Amino acid sequence: PVTDQAFVTLATNDAYSQGALVVGKCLRRHGTSRQTVVMVTSHVSQGARAALARVFHQVKEVEVLDSSDWARLIMMGRPELGVTLTKLHCWALTEYSKCVFLDADVLVLCNVDELFDRQEFSAAPDPGWPDCFNSGVFVFRPSLQTHNQLLQWARERGSFDGGDQGLLNSFFSGWATEDISKHLPFIYNLSTSAVYTYLPAFQQYGPEAKIVHFLGAIKPWHCKYDRQKEEVYLGDGSTFHRHLYPFMKQWWTEYWQPVAPSFT
Ligand code: UDP
Ligand code: MN
Repeated sequence: PVTDQAFVTLATNDAYSQGALVVGKCLRRHGTSRQTVVMVTSHVSQGARAALARVFHQVKEVEVLDSSDWARLIMMGRPELGVTLTKLHCWALTEYSKCVFLDADVLVLCNVDELFDRQEFSAAPDPGWPDCFNSGVFVFRPSLQTHNQLLQWARERGSFDGGDQGLLNSFFSGWATEDISKHLPFIYNLSTSAVYTYLPAFQQYGPEAKIVHFLGAIKPWHCKYDRQKEEVYLGDGSTFHRHLYPFMKQWWTEYWQPVAPSFT
């Protein structure tokens, strides 16, 4: 095992902890040789922390950072995203020399340890604005200096979308043009929205997906799952795009999977 590199995710409440749990279980089931860390805040219950501690190497408590930039977030229809600035604390994990951050709403489909071959700051394009990266999956190098610079940036300039993605795109503004090796292939952060925006490409390249990202307001843990029938439902009777259904179902299968025993 590599002890100075880690996958990192974040949960600020028990709902997102369910997502984080699946992230950890998948990493483990696919035999990562790296450490796994989940950052939690004070609102995460003891029960959720105990479940996370059975899956992750480290459950790390961090302070909530909140942009309180309501105007911009309400414009995006996502007032809950201010708290995503808490993500910036991943740069303070200086016991590791390199890390890969994963949002709690991703499904890791295979071993993705090769991401550690990449340098800071590597990420995949955002499907909504491809000159911006999506901040759901990124490679970074913990550093207290960078951590301080990011917090200072947040205080002085805020974030153009009120969340971590806007801030990180302004901060790592060279990403779009400087070094193509820092552009992760889209299959490392396949946003489920691509099913709606570019279905033929999804059908062509989707089978190669390594990490699926349930971007947007509807997360797998908002759905209902019938364990007997192995079926996923949306509460209001509506259904998913039929191409998303297998991923939703797989997320729930992973969720109920017992924790694999051999974890080094
Ligand atoms: N997050 C969290 N609590 C929240 C909102 C977000 O812990 O209330 C964390 C979680 O790791 C999540 C990430 O911040 O995956 C980014 O938020 P989200 O995935 O909801 O944004 P999207 O990817 O839909 O833009
Ligand atoms: Mn996300």
